[in-house]
Amino acid sequence: MPPHLGDQDLWSEDIALREAVAQQGAGWAADHLATLGRHMGQAEMVAHSELANRFEPELKTFDRYGMRVDQVEFHPSYHALMDAAVAHQVHSFAWSHARPGAHVAHGALQYMFQQIEGGVMCPMAMAYSAIPSLNATPAVAKEWLPRLLATTYDQRDIPADQKRGVMIGMFMTEKQGGSDVRVNTTKATPAGLAEGVGQAYSLTGHKFFSSAPMCDAFLVLAYSAGGLSCFLVPRWRPDGTRNGIYLQRLKDKLGNKSNASSELEFIDAHGVMLGKEGRGVRTIIDMVQHNRFYCANASAGIMRQGLRLALHHVRHRSAFQRKLVDQPLMRNVLADLAVEAEAAMAYGMRLGRAIDDAESDPMAASLARIGTAIGKYWVCKRAPSHVGESLECLGGAGYVEESGLPRLYREAPLNGIWEGSGNVICLDVWRALQREEAAGPTILAELEAARGGSRQLDAATEALKEDLNNPEDFELRARAVTERAALCLQASLLVRHGPAAVADAFCASRLGQRWHGAYGTLPKGVDFSAIIDRIAPADA
Ligand SMILES: Cc1cc2nc3c(=O)[nH]c(=O)nc-3n(C[C@H](O)[C@H](O)[C@H](O)COP(=O)(O)OP(=O)(O)OC[C@H]3O[C@@H](n4cnc5c(N)ncnc54)[C@H](O)[C@@H]3O)c2cc1C
Repeated sequence: MPPHLGDQDLWSEDIALREAVAQQGAGWAADHLATLGRHMGQAEMVAHSELANRFEPELKTFDRYGMRVDQVEFHPSYHALMDAAVAHQVHSFAWSHARPGAHVAHGALQYMFQQIEGGVMCPMAMAYSAIPSLNATPAVAKEWLPRLLATTYDQRDIPADQKRGVMIGMFMTEKQGGSDVRVNTTKATPAGLAEGVGQAYSLTGHKFFSSAPMCDAFLVLAYSAGGLSCFLVPRWRPDGTRNGIYLQRLKDKLGNKSNASSELEFIDAHGVMLGKEGRGVRTIIDMVQHNRFYCANASAGIMRQGLRLALHHVRHRSAFQRKLVDQPLMRNVLADLAVEAEAAMAYGMRLGRAIDDAESDPMAASLARIGTAIGKYWVCKRAPSHVGESLECLGGAGYVEESGLPRLYREAPLNGIWEGSGNVICLDVWRALQREEAAGPTILAELEAARGGSRQLDAATEALKEDLNNPEDFELRARAVTERAALCLQASLLVRHGPAAVADAFCASRLGQRWHGAYGTLPKGVDFSAIIDRIAPADA
């Protein structure tokens, strides 16, 4: 039986990550990334994640005197993980380091942290993503941003102005409307003035999927007289009493167990409006974009960790008188998984760079918009089957909780669902192509940069052009076109920046004639050794 993997170094062992971060202009963040990679890879952090997921959060609605408290109690390991994430700025790095490459480095932090723990990443992703929406109302931003950018995790359930650091969640989904938030029914009516920000509102309604409800404030969609608007609703009212947020129950989910996801009611909850009245979706859309960026990086992280665990096992396990890592068909599976994981990670880093450049470069802004939707769809779609295959590399041991793979496996489908399930994302890609003049040309410009580097990619680019120019039945074809765009974009990154072995294997399979998506089907001629050796050094 293989020895325990023990401590990993999520940064220095991951050659592809280090290269992609440097290529996309975030080499200056290497020390910070290395510190997080070393810290989170420790067996102690893996143990925290196991405990935080085994001893699930519990709802505590009332205190000992029967007074409502609406709290969630977590295992101490959850708090240890939150502490580590906030201390390493997994929620704030991009905003605290406003320079080119900041979102690339942020994506790398997400990718590494997610390898060890997914539940804690939910509030981290929401806090990261909330900042552009908070900026829509400068007075609110002035009050909340310094607290949100703090590097101290403060778990106390007390008013935000007394805390050393805060977290922000978002409640959009209602029973009748997750994808279609326009059918939301939560109402907001004017309720006097809020100090420094003008009009205050009182919110009443129900939210059906509200994660991390112990955050200090939430972005909430609700109807005011002028239409669907976005509100900031704190856990505590400005007068220091509890706000009208009543938790009804916690969901019993497939995975993501350490994270509490609740159903709740607002009864006269205090809130202030963010952005313009009736433009709630517009205000929250930046948050949605950044969450989608997170989803893609997180799914890439899940793939990477599954692959890392699989590699460790097959390097030590023998069957039929040979190490598994030396069996030709296992080498094909491993290399295929590695190529997929690298393409997913490289895509996330490229998106990070596009987000960084978006303000000054319209093409980058366009790529950040449509490229994020494309990547979110495809990388999240590939993650569950990827981790399932990594799990199988361990045989029966992979099906056992202690291997860590079942937890990754249960986590994997989540990123495909929230912030736009598969169909919704692909329809969004279609909408962007229709409405935004730069969307199609942006994708093609990205592919042109790799022209001549791969025969298969050049041919696939031509096929994609035809896809994009053919509006017929586009809604029906939205998944097929999004998939082809994702594969071409991933291939172009590998052709331009990756090692030849990885780029050639990707193009020969994903853009070749016989590919159907199952792993272990790379064609003859692939440099298996170069790809497998790149996953992690042999003695790591
Ligand atoms: C673990 C977890 C945590 C979550 N946390 C939060 C949270 O903190 N805050 C929050 O607001 N929400 C949260 N959600 C909810 C999540 O955002 C929604 O579940 C998601 O947006 C989908 O909405 P829905 O469940 O209502 O599905 P529906 O909107 O009913 O969609 C069901 C299916 O139909 C498809 N579909 C929808 N429209 C179309 C169409 N026009 N054509 C074709 N297919 C279509 C969708 O792609 C999906 O596959 C969470 C979900 C999960 C699983």
